[in-house]
Order: sequence, then C-alpha cells, then structure tokens
Amino acid sequence: MSKRDYYEILGVSKSAEEAEIKKAYRQKAMKYHPDRNEGDAGAEAKFKEAAEAYDVLSDVEKRKRYDQFGHDGLTGSYASNFSGGFNMEDVFTHFEDIFGGFGFGGGFGGRSSGRRVVRGSNLRVKVKLTLEEISSGIEKKIKVNKDILCTTCHGTGAKDSKSVGNCRTCRGSGRVTRVTNTFLGQMQTAATCPECNGAGQVITDKCKNCHGSGVSRGEEVIPIKIPAGVAEGMQLSASGKGNAGPKGGVPGDLLVVIEEVEHQDLKRNGDNLHYVHYISIPESILGTTIEIPTVEGKAKVKIEPGTPSGKVLRLKGKGLPSVNGYNRGDLLVSVNVWIPVRISKEEKNVLDKLGESPNFQPNPSTKDKNFFDRMKDWF
Ligand SMILES: [Zn+2]
Ligand SMILES: [Zn+2]
Repeated sequence: MSKRDYYEILGVSKSAEEAEIKKAYRQKAMKYHPDRNEGDAGAEAKFKEAAEAYDVLSDVEKRKRYDQFGHDGLTGSYASNFSGGFNMEDVFTHFEDIFGGFGFGGGFGGRSSGRRVVRGSNLRVKVKLTLEEISSGIEKKIKVNKDILCTTCHGTGAKDSKSVGNCRTCRGSGRVTRVTNTFLGQMQTAATCPECNGAGQVITDKCKNCHGSGVSRGEEVIPIKIPAGVAEGMQLSASGKGNAGPKGGVPGDLLVVIEEVEHQDLKRNGDNLHYVHYISIPESILGTTIEIPTVEGKAKVKIEPGTPSGKVLRLKGKGLPSVNGYNRGDLLVSVNVWIPVRISKEEKNVLDKLGESPNFQPNPSTKDKNFFDRMKDWF
C-alpha cells in the first residue's frame, strides 16, 4: 500500500515552518472531523491521514527521518515511538494536545446514536472436574445466581410502554450541543445528554419489580463446554453470560475457573499421569500381568520376568490430552516390589533355602551399575 506524502496531505511545502504546519493541520482537522462528517468514511480516513502527517511533521526528530528516508524511516528499526499504525485513539490524544483538551463527545464507538451503554459486571464461578472429565472434555450445566433482565419490564425499567417519555434536556435527541471557546474561535461540539445517557427517553413511571433498574436477581442454568485437557486454575469465559446490564445495557461475562478433583490413584503432572503399582517378590521374578486404572477405564499391562523394583513403564498416549493441541500425555507406571515385614517360620525356611541358591547371589551387570550414572542425572 503506497502512502501519500505527508507534506502533500497537509498541503504545505517541504520547507514549511512549524507554525505553517500547525495551521494547515488545524484546517484539515476541522474540515474532516468526524463530528462534522458523520458516517462519511472518506472524511474519517482523511482525518486520520492528516493526524498522522501532523504527528510526524510536528516532531523535529520524526520529520528529519522522514525527510531523509521517507515513510520507511518511520518503521522498522528507525521507529522508536512510532509503531507505524495509527489508531483513532492516537488521533484523539493528539487532537486534545493541539486543541486544548475539549472533547468532541467521545470516540467513534456508538457515535451514530451517541448512546452510552452500561455493561453488567462479570461473574466468576468455580467448577470441579474429575480427571476422567478433563480427559474427555465435558459440557457442564452451571447454575448461577445473578442479575437477570427484569421479567416484568423485560429490562426497560419502565412500568409499561406509556411510562416512557422524551427527555426534556435533549428533547429526545440524546445529544446536547455545547459551545466552547477555543483559540480557533467558538466551536460547537455535540455530547451525549447527561440526563438520559443518550437514550433520548426517560422513564416517567418506574417498574415496580426492579424499581427502574431493568434487572432483578434470578437463577440461570448455563451450559458450559469445557475442552479436554484443562487444568487447575484455568479460566474459561462465556461471553455475555454474566450479570445483565442495567437499563437495557449489555451483559457481563461468566468466568469459569477450573478446579481439579484429586484422583484416587492417578497423579497428574502436566499432561502426564503417574501411577504406583506394587507387585510381589515372586511376580517380580516370574513376571505377571497387572491391571491398572486409567482415565479411560482399566488397562492390562504385562510385567516382564525379572522386573526390578522402581522400574517405570511408559504407556504412550494414556495420559491427558493437551488443551492446546492434538497430543496426548503418557501414563507412567512405577512398579515397586512389595517387601513383607512379617513372615511365617515356613516362609523363612523357603527364603533361607533360596538365599543359598547361586542364582540369588547378587551379581550386578554393567547395566545395573549404570543406575548410579542415571542417579547423577537426578541431582
Ligand atoms: Zn422491571
Ligand atoms: Zn436526554
């Protein structure tokens, strides 16, 4: 997109002095000001363009860079305070600088009606989820007590359709005209009517149920879709499901904070799950098949003969789904060998006999000694 030359926009020469630039900008700004060109997108664009041009040419540093490098001088590494994009908020800040801070009746939002909209407050609720629910994702129906639209007046705050009349301050227009003295001379500006907040109408007879506020307390059951993989403390937002806005305003949001119910057997670590399983000494030597809980029901896992205590088995994809993607975590099963504390005389005899047997003499291989190397990684 090619940008117009800033000097050309303001209609001044390259050698124009500060005062001349300021004067040119004032003229453009007055001509294209949105309050004088309501609904004219072309004028709005020109207004912004002039403001941007003035922003650069009124600043000695920026002007120098612009003269030397053109528009490129104001973006990329040269740009210190100038982000390139110029939004309407910048324009207005700017405008207030040069015209001395008398408003033009707010920003562009809602300019057509000028009506100030009151927003209901946000609501925050906690929802408890089991690991199984987190694994699959779930829709929860959440019952909340909140400000709802008054059922008697449907949010208008008026007793009936006859109890609404034109505002006397603005005579129903919702706007009031203010005359301000500025260094440019007298300036007429339109502002939102303070009496009716821009609605143009006032309530003459208030609704008995809500006393004119348009809202009352009530209960609502709100279905919330909770994606799989959420974690403790995460917050979901249901837009517009918070408290109703007073006097026909917009509702706030419902914020849902996730709480995790501790699982009986499984511990969570990010998307991975941990489980500890005990096997007997004969099972560790002879091997076995164990059954372990997962978030999707029981799973059978084979324990190889000769499995030592502390062995961790990784069950790929048996953890929790990632909330941000398609990956799934793993289920890590710690296999521990159960050592009995109390044994019978008969058991002792068997063990004594086994203890003398050659295969039961400790004979660690290099692989087993590597255990210490692995331990170093842990510290
Ligand atoms: Zn009411
Ligand atoms: Zn009014």
